[in-house]
Amino acid sequence: MRAFIFLFLLMGTAFTGHTQTTLNSKKLDPKIEAIIPHLMEYRNHIHQNPEISYHETETAKYVVNKLKKWGYEVHTKYGGGTGVVGILNKGQKPYIGIRADMDALPVDELVDSPIKSTKRGVYEGVETGISHACGHDVHTAAALATAELVANDKDFKGSIMFIFQPAEEGGKKEGLLDSGAEQMLKDGLFEDLPKPEVLFTLHVIGGAPTGFYGLNHGLQSANSAFFEVKLTGVQGHGSSPWVTKDPVSCAAQIITLTQTVVSREANLTKGAAVITYASIHGGLRENIIPSEVVMKGTIRNLDEDNHELVLKSLKKKIEGIAAVNDIQAEVRYFNPVPALYNNPVVAENTARVLKSIKPAQQVADDIAAGTGYDDASQFHNLIPACYFLVGGADPTGKIKPGGNHTPYFYISDQAVKNSFKAFAYLVYDYLNKPYLTLP
Ligand SMILES: [Zn+2]
Ligand SMILES: [Zn+2]
Repeated sequence: MRAFIFLFLLMGTAFTGHTQTTLNSKKLDPKIEAIIPHLMEYRNHIHQNPEISYHETETAKYVVNKLKKWGYEVHTKYGGGTGVVGILNKGQKPYIGIRADMDALPVDELVDSPIKSTKRGVYEGVETGISHACGHDVHTAAALATAELVANDKDFKGSIMFIFQPAEEGGKKEGLLDSGAEQMLKDGLFEDLPKPEVLFTLHVIGGAPTGFYGLNHGLQSANSAFFEVKLTGVQGHGSSPWVTKDPVSCAAQIITLTQTVVSREANLTKGAAVITYASIHGGLRENIIPSEVVMKGTIRNLDEDNHELVLKSLKKKIEGIAAVNDIQAEVRYFNPVPALYNNPVVAENTARVLKSIKPAQQVADDIAAGTGYDDASQFHNLIPACYFLVGGADPTGKIKPGGNHTPYFYISDQAVKNSFKAFAYLVYDYLNKPYLTLP
């Protein structure tokens, strides 16, 4: 969930307690409880050993070793070298899928917690802390614990695929696609291996309370693309701009004027649109106008037509503004990720199952679509699936809630358990009542 500024908009939020489920929670709950110490061990280990996109080598090894120990058929050739797929076949049907992402971010963790990441590394030439500031450690641990649960349970008589993907945040590795999910598909994941009939995906949210589950029945997150703009002018003395071609003043015009693509061109009644410039680099000294400025950012659109329009118009406007300033502009788009849709039937059943979890959690099954993205959409486009959010703020209130991608991002231990429990309940509910294949 790259640059997920989560707009926590709940529309007609329905907080509901118990509803019917087909699984026997009296039987399942003790099995879940027995695995929780392992779950916490997995989470703490992965949290303290974060690895950025396409560098999840040790995390992948950790996952592979566990899956093999539990009797899974393990595949590691999908996802550019750090993706892991585990399949367990204990019966023909149903065939259920769980997806988790494994990558961390170049963010210094500043939360005062016993499992705080102290790892440092170099990202794009800059020394930085590395941490699981988007909670993918929780996703991986919850999926691993679910894998352990079903492998060791004689009552689990179906088949299951676990997809541990690399580079959800957008990897930058020569020869690989930016999206780890797309790379897994490109490497032939579903050409070689059968697709599960249903898929569950989740994301933890630092700004939402522990005990909260949120989803909707259709569009959940935005179409996205990253962009880079390189502006080239002529360097010169800061005292004499007339002998230069100044890319800095051109950059300033571009940043402000291109917002009209959103405010004047996109049809905002069809969905939110965003253009964000998140990085700008150029120049070294107060009195030197540089020859080059590089800007990076992202666009988000909830509507497909707006997305096409913004992609075309942003480039055209940047080139036009550069041209009238006598500056050369190169605009490059990368890491395209399609919008994420939930299958309405799977979403309806996911909401039913989440509402059945005891003690009762806060389940909002009609949250507004957000302008974040998640490349789980690549899998959702191929398999009936549901993606849901899991709140993770500290229930004691001692640790201030921190947003995803910030140094203060924090997910409570209880939310880690809630993530695992949700996966486990969804798997066993579908096992007992495979609603997509019923007449
Ligand atoms: Zn993220
Ligand atoms: Zn994420």
